[in-house]
Amino acid sequence: MASSCTKYELCCNECGKSYGNRPLSACPDCLAPLEVQYDLESVRGRFTRESVTAGPASIWRYKELLPIPEGFQPDLPVGFTPLVRAKNLGKRIGADNLYVKNDAVCFPTLSFKDRVVSVALANAQAFGFTTVGCSSTGNLANSTAAQAARLGLKACILVPADLEAAKVLNTQVYGARLVRIDGNYDHVNRLCTLIADEYNWGFVNVNLRPYYAEGSKTVGYEIAEQLGWRLPDNIVCPMAGGSLIRKIRKAFKDLIALGLVEPKEVRFFGAQATGCSPIAHAVKNGLDYIEPQRPNTIARSLAIGNPADGPAAAKMIQETGGWAEDVSDVELVSGIQELAEDEGIFTETAGGVTTAVTARLYSQGRIGRDDLTVVCITGNGLKTTDALEGCFAAERAVKPKLTAFDEYIRVVDGQLIGADADLTLAGGAR
Ligand SMILES: *Cc1c(COP(=O)(O)O)cnc(C)c1O
Ligand SMILES: [Zn+2]
Repeated sequence: MASSCTKYELCCNECGKSYGNRPLSACPDCLAPLEVQYDLESVRGRFTRESVTAGPASIWRYKELLPIPEGFQPDLPVGFTPLVRAKNLGKRIGADNLYVKNDAVCFPTLSFKDRVVSVALANAQAFGFTTVGCSSTGNLANSTAAQAARLGLKACILVPADLEAAKVLNTQVYGARLVRIDGNYDHVNRLCTLIADEYNWGFVNVNLRPYYAEGSKTVGYEIAEQLGWRLPDNIVCPMAGGSLIRKIRKAFKDLIALGLVEPKEVRFFGAQATGCSPIAHAVKNGLDYIEPQRPNTIARSLAIGNPADGPAAAKMIQETGGWAEDVSDVELVSGIQELAEDEGIFTETAGGVTTAVTARLYSQGRIGRDDLTVVCITGNGLKTTDALEGCFAAERAVKPKLTAFDEYIRVVDGQLIGADADLTLAGGAR
């Protein structure tokens, strides 16, 4: 393999001005977000199906199309999560060709945020930051804390005060300094912008945001490769800031441009919780701007009321012929249970949203029964067990005797009655 490096730099999405490579997230002239652009010609010939397949079983197999500084030696096996056929869930919702991309088991902290953090921290080190941080709705906090610990960087992490206990603990355990802010994510994010400047810290989703966001492309590269180098008909993706969904499309465009897959227009479908659905609202109403919302949902990892990439995400969804939907907290809890019962995958609230939205899109006929659809499950259910509180009966202890067991267990016509049947009887969440 040739040793020459991929050429990339920051460019403004609005005016097209380029800014080289530095910790900067918005164009000083028009305040639009900056995005990493690549000289694809410098990659051609070095990024092929063969070169990728020969690479490590992690996101670093796509490193030629990631903004990583010269000399960076990746050593954490982040990403390359399973893509699994979802026959049972498909049967339930009327989908014959359904797949789940399972980032609930992403290494090292069980969400897709591990991808973005590893790319951001590679750049943080190159820019000379010794303290890093983030504003987070939870998963980003976990991943930044874990990866900073391993790299020997100090971490200061700011979260809204109402964050789930498991996500707080999963940040503190790595030795990071966690600051709970009495406000919502949008307050936290604004404060982080000021702190990054004042203290000269590298905030992965603030001043390092353009590099961070590129890590999400690896979800798209993996889906295409795992489908045997072809693109699906549809992607269903949760949206918080609106970055992941856009970057999956960018990844597909890269693969088409470099000839690794046949050209195809993939339709993108966005998923949000009704209690915080500014992007879905824009799509449903054909707006080209975002009306900020005050979040009120248990899907805290998606609770961004004024999403940085919201306008671009809404526009992109409309361009591809896709759609966006939002579901209630009750529906998202059912979504968590259905994915678990059907496919053995325990996802967090965001995944419950995505699963419930997928079912709705099929029932609305917006996605056809035979379409090849990939559902992006982005986080792990063990981090949001509070969402299922009260859903399952507390079992009493049974004496270790067969007669006691016989008496206790309910078998009807030789069939074991499952927990879900008990739930209905007990008048639980469903
Ligand atoms: C952050 C997050 C998202 C959304 O990511 P954006 O790129 O901000 O839209 C989706 N799911 C989970 C679990 C997340 O933590
Ligand atoms: Zn500009």
